[in-house]
Amino acid sequence: MTAEAIGVHLHQLTKSFGEKRALDDVSLDIAPGTFTVLLGPSGSGKTTLLRCLAGIERPTSGTITLGNKTVVAPGVFLSAEKRQLSMVFQDYALWPHLSVARNVGFALERSSVSKEERSEKVSTLLARVGIEHLAERFPNELSGGEQQRVALARALAADVGLILFDEPLSNLDADRREDLRIAIATLARESGATVVYITHDQSEAFALADAVGVLNQGRLVQWASPEEVYQAPATPFVARFTGLAGELPVRVESVSEGLAEVKIQLATPALLGSCPTRCASGEDATLFIRPSAVSLEEVGSSSTIVATVADSAFIGRGYEHVVTLDGNRRLTKIFSQQRFPRGTQVAVVIDPRSVYVMSDV
Ligand code: ATP
Repeated sequence: MTAEAIGVHLHQLTKSFGEKRALDDVSLDIAPGTFTVLLGPSGSGKTTLLRCLAGIERPTSGTITLGNKTVVAPGVFLSAEKRQLSMVFQDYALWPHLSVARNVGFALERSSVSKEERSEKVSTLLARVGIEHLAERFPNELSGGEQQRVALARALAADVGLILFDEPLSNLDADRREDLRIAIATLARESGATVVYITHDQSEAFALADAVGVLNQGRLVQWASPEEVYQAPATPFVARFTGLAGELPVRVESVSEGLAEVKIQLATPALLGSCPTRCASGEDATLFIRPSAVSLEEVGSSSTIVATVADSAFIGRGYEHVVTLDGNRRLTKIFSQQRFPRGTQVAVVIDPRSVYVMSDV
């Protein structure tokens, strides 16, 4: 597993299906050996982008360079077989008539690798993905999680510099998903290959990625580390799609050094929030609140916002609360080790570092 990682460069990539622009002017530079996750809701263009990279879909315009090879450009289109990459699909796509061992070794059967070497490599890979005991079974004798492990081993066996993952965990139940996510994170990185992985699941993206690309309606709206996407969302869409406790309408009172002082209708003292984009005093804006920004306290003299607990759910390490601020405004996913019972009044404390003030246009 020593293939040389390749960089991936997209320049002004567009793909239209009739009137529909599935990809709209996407440019991206992915460094060799990094793990990139493309995140977006259904219909945002993730699959189209991955299929363009794989050579399954032909872009309408723009260029794609893989390593030093231009695979898509005006008058140039390299087919999938010539791109030297592996792909792991959502529905596994194993050869049903081949055993697990042959599925994994298939790519090596046409290479110059000797039979002994091939068999040793297949055994090593099966052991690494944790299914060496299933080598002689056929795909229809395996669970979904086991089949996806075979697909992962097969992708690694090909020793290519680029591996594409198309929502590989989406057909698995929660426990298997977590196990396989860790296997992918570890083994794909160990292989040294560049990885491009698509998902609509924000927590999966943050857990896996070195860099996250957020897609909305065919456009790349942010390209940054998971931490930066969480701490400085580029747009209200990104903030919403990556997990909020809630939103509140506010008026910006003043702005200084990237922090805005804002007034909400419900509280007398002003609140602070950071400004990942432009903020101007006097404007109406929206306060986007991450769950991690909110803590609950007993109502006391210093309370700024008083809310009513609408729900309190035990989640093992503590409780997740939903609170109602004024009958219809809610903050959700608020963690506390202490249980605040339904119907009681609580003080809501908001940490400005995970609160963003943006004009919601
Ligand atoms: P999902 O998570 O649901 O798979 P996605 O983000 O992968 O969504 P795409 O499958 O890339 O999104 O689709 C992007 C847009 O392009 C959608 O509006 C889709 O309906 C449209 N589209 C995709 N493939 C075709 C096609 N072959 N013909 C027409 N429209 C298409």
